[in-house]
Amino acid sequence: MQIMDDLYQNGISTILATPSGARPVWLDNKYPDVMRVDANGVRNRHGGRHNHCMSSEKYREKVRIIDRKLAETVGDHPGLIMWHVSNEFGGECFCDKCKAKFREYLRERFHNNIDELNHEWWTTFWSARYSDFEEIDPPYNNGQTAIMGLNLEWKRFTSRNYSDYLSVEIDAIREHSKNASIPITTNFMGRYYGIDYRVLAKKIDAIAWDSYPAFHNDHETYRDTMMSAAFDNAVMRGMKKDRPFLLMESAPGLVNWMPFNKLKRPGVHEQFAIQTIACGADSIQYFQMRKSRGAAEQFHGAVIDHIGTNDTRIFKEVKKTGETLRKLSEVEGSIKNNEAAIIFEWDNWWAIDGAGAFGGSTKKYDSICRDYWVKLMEFGVEADVISTEDELDRYKLIIVPMLFMLKDDIAKELTDFVEKGGTILVTYISGYVNENCLCYQGGFPGDGLKKLLGVISEEIDTLYPSDNNGIHVNYKGIDKIIEVRDYAEILRVDDAQILGRYTEDFYKDTAAITCRCHGNGKAYYQAARCSIDGLSEFIKGLLTESGIEVKDIPAGIEYHKRIGKEATYEFYLNVTSDIIELTNVEGINLMTGNRISGSINLGGREYLVLKNKL
Ligand SMILES: [Zn+2]
Repeated sequence: MQIMDDLYQNGISTILATPSGARPVWLDNKYPDVMRVDANGVRNRHGGRHNHCMSSEKYREKVRIIDRKLAETVGDHPGLIMWHVSNEFGGECFCDKCKAKFREYLRERFHNNIDELNHEWWTTFWSARYSDFEEIDPPYNNGQTAIMGLNLEWKRFTSRNYSDYLSVEIDAIREHSKNASIPITTNFMGRYYGIDYRVLAKKIDAIAWDSYPAFHNDHETYRDTMMSAAFDNAVMRGMKKDRPFLLMESAPGLVNWMPFNKLKRPGVHEQFAIQTIACGADSIQYFQMRKSRGAAEQFHGAVIDHIGTNDTRIFKEVKKTGETLRKLSEVEGSIKNNEAAIIFEWDNWWAIDGAGAFGGSTKKYDSICRDYWVKLMEFGVEADVISTEDELDRYKLIIVPMLFMLKDDIAKELTDFVEKGGTILVTYISGYVNENCLCYQGGFPGDGLKKLLGVISEEIDTLYPSDNNGIHVNYKGIDKIIEVRDYAEILRVDDAQILGRYTEDFYKDTAAITCRCHGNGKAYYQAARCSIDGLSEFIKGLLTESGIEVKDIPAGIEYHKRIGKEATYEFYLNVTSDIIELTNVEGINLMTGNRISGSINLGGREYLVLKNKL
């Protein structure tokens, strides 16, 4: 309370976190079942953090008490602007309570009908048939891990269990806070693999996440690191597209947990902060304000270092970033109105990885989605990252990479989208299984998607890195060979125009890229993984054809746009070390207040924010 008072009196608001991310020693000693059980069935000892059982009634009870006390004490504090539940949910628990809840979840999911579950999981294979829901264990490491449906439902259940736990804390705060209108969030971790964040996002008022890109690494360019961070922002923002998100944690200098904890070079933190705002955030915050003297994160970056002064490079960079953000304050509240979208789904990701198929190390679902997103950015087009549950009709172009798991009715929705004039691009490894991982029969992609696309994928070839193949694309003035990597499907073309054909192997000259007109729109199929740069002209063609403006963005410039009630805000980030000339730019430079019309030079890692009245 005293800290919040001091902050408030100095013009600083508080987002107050509940303390449930780390448990005290006495609690674990007194109530061992609050500690998590690992995938081998062994209960943890006290240690670390984030390792509680989300099903534990005792933990929930104790957390409710402390949340109630917090809410009663500071719930109406004038400095409190948001609640933050727990910290960075993650991991799984295999204890008996979680097992019992999992069985309960399965009963509900399969209508309390074990025959239905056996059918959907195809359990007769390898004698895996269950007689009763009570026989089903979680996929222990030393147990049953060979049923795709079981593995998938366990991950779905874990997400729902986190969501259920999240409700406990949210309800405690709402019930006991004198000001129930204060919004509630929790901090996500971008493309964290273990939780379908969309399940949790439904419970909170705003999306917040922790972004720690590995700047200046030895395996990608600075621009690539920035683009990956931007894609993560898009994944996070996409869960609540109608409002800005918060950057809850970032490090102004270095972190302490990467294999190489490289310093952010001068100016990089400021550009990273502007990029995050450009991507739709309304806040830039830090972990941590001051380095803790001891313990696990004593060497994790902070605004104030152990030296304790305000004249360090990092402190000065944070101060300058703060001054810059003040100049951008009118951007607050503005959103995006994107015309293109890319479908990315967690359970599809799990299903692809869980399938005993394709290549062992080349599935790379999330990075393939990112590559398409980045390619669109090169044309000045920022795409929303959506799930198949989202409204599709607001878009002109939807890219559907590797939608291996095609849920009920999605093929119909995509067909309707195209019929009304939309353009879609579906890629290889799409429509193989239903939501329970059962293969579609009668040809992939199943459930009617093959009809929309006019093709059937009959076989898929997995390529070694040393294999060579290509696609000769020859349509609409494009006449080139695009390199094929990792996967190549062999198609049967029923009713589609062939735009590209393989150049090598026994399937040479067969179809690799096709297009089918349907209603007022077009459905494209890309049967092989290609070099994303090789696809540039093809993707540019999709944008033009679907009526999305292609901007002439110089290489090395990252472009974003936010739309406010009265003005638009365009962001140009130079993600190189060289001077780049921007031409045909128009608007008020928010950094200087001056009007710019025509061209301007942007120095290495500089940026420009332009305002134009609507
Ligand atoms: Zn548990």
